[in-house]
Amino acid sequence: MKNYIAILGLALLATFPASAASPFDGKLIALDAGHGGGETGAVGNCSGIAVIEADVNFYVRAELEKILDANHVAYFEVPRIDSRKDRVAAAEAAGSSVLISIHHNGSLNVTADYTQSFVTQRNDKIFAGYIHPAIASALKLRDKGIKNDGYGMTVYGSLPGVLTEAYFITNTEAACDFLKYRDNGATNTRVQKEAQAMYGGLYSYFSR
Ligand SMILES: [Zn+2]
Repeated sequence: MKNYIAILGLALLATFPASAASPFDGKLIALDAGHGGGETGAVGNCSGIAVIEADVNFYVRAELEKILDANHVAYFEVPRIDSRKDRVAAAEAAGSSVLISIHHNGSLNVTADYTQSFVTQRNDKIFAGYIHPAIASALKLRDKGIKNDGYGMTVYGSLPGVLTEAYFITNTEAACDFLKYRDNGATNTRVQKEAQAMYGGLYSYFSR
C-alpha cells in the first residue's frame, strides 16, 4: 500500500509538475473596451451594415479574455461608465497591475488604415513598448508608432497603461473583416490577431 501511494504520488507529480511559475502570477490585467454606454465611437460600414467601434472594442476584449482564461490569467473588466477618470479609478481600486484601453480608429476616408497607440505617463511608455509593437507586427498595417499625447484614460491615475488603436474600423476591408468574425465565425480575422498580439505583449512585459 505504501509503495502504491508513493507511486501514485510520483504519477501525480508527473502529471502536475510543481506549478510552473507564470509571469502573470499575482498580476491583474485591467481591460477597458472603449466607449459603450451612450457612446458609439467611430462608425464604419460594410455593404450598408454599420460597424460600431464600441462593439469592435467589446469583441476584442472578449477575445483577449478567452486567451487569458485559457492561460489562467486574472483580469478586471473596466465598467463601461461615461467618465474615463472613473474607469481608471475602478481599475486602480480593483488592484490592477496594468491597463489596456482598447479603441479603434475612425476617418471619413474609407481607405485610411494604420496602427497607433497613445500614452501619457512614463510607466505607460515602458508598457506600450511591449503592447504596441506586438499589435503592429500582427496586423502588418502602416505603423504610426506610440504617440505621447495626454489622450484618453492614460491621462488619469498611475497604472502603466496604453490606449490602442489597432486599425481603422472605418476602413471598408476592416469593417467587412469584423462582420465575418462576428456573424460568420471566421477565424484569423483582425479581432483574433489583435487579441493574440495583446496577450503576447502582456506576456513579454511581465517576463521582462
Ligand atoms: Zn475610440
